[in-house]
Amino acid sequence: MFRMKMDPGAAKVIRALTDAGYKAYAVGGCVRDSMLGKTPHDWDICSSATPEQVLEVFAPERCILTGLKHGTITIKQDGGLYEVTTFRTEGTYTDGRHPDAVAYVARVEEDLARRDFTMNAMAYNEDEGLVDPFGGAEDLLVHRMVRAVGVPKERFGEDALRIMRLFRFAAREGLNVDPETLEAALVLRENLRRISAERIREELLGLLAAGKPGRWLLPEVLTIILPEAMPADACGTERLQKLIDAAPAVREVRLAALLSAAEDVQQVMRRLKFDNKTTAAVSGLVQLQALLPEREAHALRIQARRLIGRSGMERIGQLRDLRAAQRAVGDALPALDGLAETADEVVRQGLCCRLNEMAVGGEDLREELGVMPGPALGALLSKLLERVLTDVTPNEREALLTAARGMMEETR
Ligand code: ATP
Ligand code: MG
Repeated sequence: MFRMKMDPGAAKVIRALTDAGYKAYAVGGCVRDSMLGKTPHDWDICSSATPEQVLEVFAPERCILTGLKHGTITIKQDGGLYEVTTFRTEGTYTDGRHPDAVAYVARVEEDLARRDFTMNAMAYNEDEGLVDPFGGAEDLLVHRMVRAVGVPKERFGEDALRIMRLFRFAAREGLNVDPETLEAALVLRENLRRISAERIREELLGLLAAGKPGRWLLPEVLTIILPEAMPADACGTERLQKLIDAAPAVREVRLAALLSAAEDVQQVMRRLKFDNKTTAAVSGLVQLQALLPEREAHALRIQARRLIGRSGMERIGQLRDLRAAQRAVGDALPALDGLAETADEVVRQGLCCRLNEMAVGGEDLREELGVMPGPALGALLSKLLERVLTDVTPNEREALLTAARGMMEETR
């Protein structure tokens, strides 16, 4: 019998349910990941017990009811949380996104049949071992491929998000895709238009987090979910796929690589409902993607200080990594390692790069020079910062006040 290292908390929850006379198994991702020798990040449990029956087995203070309408109760056990979901089937999908109705069923095999891929349709407990009616273990370990449960066209027709999930799992685990499953995914790809932007975004991020997702960024799918990033020809697609693979699996860098040819990065990211912080980071990277480093040491240091002030150290590191990927695919652009190293040095030396690091602020200019708050004060501060960044004026209070007085004289 196949033996799996069970999470002790999950084993206890399963034991409590089986002791009460119900069927219960660890299911889905945790079984798959265990089989791959990875430590699962969560342990989902499926059971013949209805939610009401689950509530009878566990004390009320151990039950969280937020998932009740999906037939899920979350159990607190040993400091962890375990979702227990009643065996269920999903009826027809008229909208290609949500089942019209869900119904509880008696057997785990029926529950497994509603799941997307054979490797995700396995269940396990310590008494019965592996329940694998669709050959998930063989697909995963022998054929090394992702295969739809049942008839692929039907499964993707029910829920088009599975098309994205297919590529995500293939990329993440370095697997192939069963040819019939791949064909069905491509035939039905138009259905992705019905999937919400949020769900597409999350699957896309999952795909981009894989080691080498390039080969699964298929132009047939890209043209639907990200037409703005679509290269003009096969050559461009190949370059884009290589660029993504060459970039480190850091969300912002991978997104910038993906969107490097988009005309309006912000618009694309708003459409996919990305948060403002990520949107700003990615559009910043794309904007700076062709940045040329200054050659001369002093100019390079000024450039580094400006960049730290405007974009921050994290972005500079990401920019260097994006550039390394661009160079790896043959772009004739200079490396940014020197710029990044100079930026590190600037930070080590504690040099001023931003307004709030200057030895004088708005308050000082008001008190010492009588400049009233407003655009003129802002402009004066910017000019002072410029002098500090370019080493014209040292970042010292007296020197800056003197410089400020001089500049005010000039404007008078
Ligand atoms: P991950 O490690 O990314 O969380 P996972 O397999 O646990 O992978 P989840 O999205 O957490 O994926 O879903 C848990 C399980 O639910 C899956 O293993 C699969 O059996 C089933 N499942 C999830 N989404 C779908 C779907 N869209 N269609 C069919 N089954 C699904
Ligand atoms: Mg999961």
